[in-house]
Amino acid sequence: MSDPQSLQPRLSPPPHQPNVPAPGAAPVPGAAPAIPPTGPDEVALLIDDRPVVVRKGATVLQAAEKAGILVPHYCYHPGISIAGNCRMCLVEIEKMPKLQIGCATAAAPGMVVRTSNDRVKGVRAGIQEFLLINHPLDCPICDQAGECRLQSYEKDYGRGFSRFAEEKVHFPKRYDIGRSVLFDAERCIKCTRCIRFCDEVSKSHELALFSRGDHTIVGAFPGRPLDNLYSGCTVDVCPVGALTWKPFRFKARVWFLKNVPSVCAGCARGCNVNVATFRNRIHRMTPRVNADVNDYWMCDAGRQSYETLYARPRLEQPIVRPLPALPGAPEGPRPPAEADSPWDGALDRAAALLREVARTGGRDSLAAIVSARLSLEDLYVAKRVLGDLAGIPRLAIPSHEEGEDDHLLIRRDKTPNGRGAELLGLGAPSSSRVREILDDVASGRVKGVVVVGEDLLALPGIAPPLLDRLEALVVIDWWKSPTVERAHVALPSCGYGEFDGTVVNFQGRAQRLRAALRPPGEADPAWRILRDLGRRFGLANEYASAPSVFDEIAVKVPAFAGLTFRALGDAGAPVSGAAAPRSAGAPRAGA
Ligand code: SF4
Ligand code: SF4
Repeated sequence: MSDPQSLQPRLSPPPHQPNVPAPGAAPVPGAAPAIPPTGPDEVALLIDDRPVVVRKGATVLQAAEKAGILVPHYCYHPGISIAGNCRMCLVEIEKMPKLQIGCATAAAPGMVVRTSNDRVKGVRAGIQEFLLINHPLDCPICDQAGECRLQSYEKDYGRGFSRFAEEKVHFPKRYDIGRSVLFDAERCIKCTRCIRFCDEVSKSHELALFSRGDHTIVGAFPGRPLDNLYSGCTVDVCPVGALTWKPFRFKARVWFLKNVPSVCAGCARGCNVNVATFRNRIHRMTPRVNADVNDYWMCDAGRQSYETLYARPRLEQPIVRPLPALPGAPEGPRPPAEADSPWDGALDRAAALLREVARTGGRDSLAAIVSARLSLEDLYVAKRVLGDLAGIPRLAIPSHEEGEDDHLLIRRDKTPNGRGAELLGLGAPSSSRVREILDDVASGRVKGVVVVGEDLLALPGIAPPLLDRLEALVVIDWWKSPTVERAHVALPSCGYGEFDGTVVNFQGRAQRLRAALRPPGEADPAWRILRDLGRRFGLANEYASAPSVFDEIAVKVPAFAGLTFRALGDAGAPVSGAAAPRSAGAPRAGA
């Protein structure tokens, strides 16, 4: 083997160094594969005869990954520290008599590694057999079936049979280890990923190993259940079915799920997620790796945020209600809705109501309140149609803040697109601007309001009689909110997971929300409803699709210059001049 020193960069290779090619030299047929030259912070080695260059400090397992070679492992996870306890990643390294664990062995210059010779394969099969001694083979009911490393590795590296004839060690099954996580101790292989996650990432320290030998068990400390804000991530990192997410248990087999890459809309972080659907229903959300946003993690609230889609009554058809009672008429319950109205009639009525208010009270008697939960496309078309074409002079965006920014991902700002609204020139979300509009409704100065994606009656201090003063209340929303119940015209928009669009997170990163579901009834993306309303105010034949809206934003709004909908891809891209550091962001693995 080459002397490691000889692998440092040189102007010309010394004699007796066949693995270090002269610059530009052609490979010699039949010779050992060449180890490429390296930079000062790099290391070159051979793995299964493939030359690979990695940064100094990388492990053999990471180098193998870079070379496209899978070294199987259970306890290693790139987002947490290395424990080296499962031994599944043992590899043979030239000049080392014993096999070494790839996860904890640093790649060294000139190293020659074998990851799948007979010796390594034999040891792997032994480790599989050892792990399966006490593991119950309840795969037919286990939620992890289809995603379980024990299953996959047994198929690829195991013996396929067991020589164990004794009784397995029994542990507690199906017990609540926390609010949302159920633990089956018999399935646990003691890799300690969940413990390290709680120690290093959530920093909540609820879990530890208790007892010894084959009676070792993972458990929560007395009086401290696994209830941290990121407890679902322990389920993600568990390589087997020992930790399961209660809301997902037995909902669907994972091979039936369709994973759509999207972004969580639970707060201004915009964690990258996979939205898993089956039969047009979201069954779970899991984190998708993005080193610039959320690394490998997401919070429990975000993981369950889709549940509002099914917990709230949906608005599925346009609704047109009778015009308001005449001034001076006694206040009483609103009359029931007229029959559901087709889109054209509802949009005509909405436009007519807004025009009538402007005619009798002037433009200043109109206002609009739109949500920072809307996509960039929705907000842009709202600004164009409501502001430029319908001439509504005031457009306000409520802020939604709750709790505090935490040490990891969670943001106090619970809107996914407040930064996007600001960059579009709509101003930062501000509850006081909304309050001013509602005060003017109370005083009679404002008589017509368009609301998009907000429930005004959920804002503090707003009661239904205030909305009953309006001569025109046009609401675009995805659910039958109390505000929708008071609207003269209510138009059904898509909910989370039902439309394509873009949001900008607090760091200034534009990211794509993707449609994963068919919307119910006649619900449509809000930008399309606004576009059709805009046609009543003279909008030409514009905005055929969400990408076409985004591409116009990129042309007309300087902050988005150079971006295209398609180029955002799965990872998103920083908006020009708006990128913020990862402050209060996800810590890097090992940081
Ligand atoms: S519960 Fe899962 S993650 Fe935790 S030690 Fe057991 S196998 Fe590993
Ligand atoms: S931190 Fe925010 S964006 Fe990330 S998962 Fe939680 S709620 Fe969603």
